Amino acid sequence: GTPLAILGGIGRSARLGAIIKGGEHLEMLGKIDTVVMDKTGTVTFGEPRILGLSLADGVSEEQLLTVASAAEVWSEHPLAKAIIKRAEELNIVVQKPDEFNYQPGMGVSITLDGSRIHVGNRKLLVAHNIDDTEAEAAEAANPAASEIHVAQDDRYLGSVIVADVLRPEAKHAIKALNSMGIQTMILTGDSKRIADAIAEELGISTVIAEMLPEDKLAKIRGLVDDGKIVAMLGDGVNDAPALTAATVGVAMGSGTDVAKESADIVLLGNDLAKFVETVEVSRKTRRTIW
Ligand code: ADP
Ligand code: MG
Repeated sequence: GTPLAILGGIGRSARLGAIIKGGEHLEMLGKIDTVVMDKTGTVTFGEPRILGLSLADGVSEEQLLTVASAAEVWSEHPLAKAIIKRAEELNIVVQKPDEFNYQPGMGVSITLDGSRIHVGNRKLLVAHNIDDTEAEAAEAANPAASEIHVAQDDRYLGSVIVADVLRPEAKHAIKALNSMGIQTMILTGDSKRIADAIAEELGISTVIAEMLPEDKLAKIRGLVDDGKIVAMLGDGVNDAPALTAATVGVAMGSGTDVAKESADIVLLGNDLAKFVETVEVSRKTRRTIW
């Protein structure tokens, strides 16, 4: 059976909002020396703010959001939810696509009434041979924000400009982990520009941007192969393989179902400070056993 100290630790963690799927995960959490975090939805809120739209010549706000919302209607990504919400606020009828294809780390491609639509980052445009000159210019014009680009039938329509809002406790949580002797790093699918800005704000030195799900997985595997004991925190479909490969996978409660299923621990309240407290609990639990 599970030792009493472990059961106690699981109970205490549960009261902090960290649901631990087995005693062995609590034990491993007590030994971690590295914490790898995803950016969007993990160190930032799951609800990005829309700052505005940037429209190509002859494109209306309604046209852009009609196309973008149809692409995002079945998507679980936080960016998708923000776009749907804005479309609904403007009383735009959100259409259902005929085909839907999510490319984690890049965005969504759909077909709608016979036209092909792409909604995502520049990588997505490039992957579909769409000229990204205008997209690049739009990004340069808004250096502090993320751009969700929209293209229809190879034509660039413009972008939705969103701001990723940092979780208020993130900076202190990272500091606390560092003072416990734990290394921290951020892996993100977002652009290097945004990743660097976030890293600067958080005071975190290691940040790797423009990562596809398989890149996150490879990075975690590399760390584990190097003998690191790694906790990975994530929320997205794009994080699921990495969560499985980490010594301890931790999903945000607000995350996608596949992230929560792939994780060993689910952080119900999405509070990074509670994660730090859970690590403290797990270290104390170890001391009580040995
Ligand atoms: P992170 O790793 O920081 O959580 P993701 O890998 O989920 O970020 O996303 C990386 C980038 O891919 C986003 O910044 C966005 O540009 C694009 N992207 C991902 N999913 C979507 C989506 N559903 N709609 C539009 N863009 C998306
Ligand atoms: Mg994410």
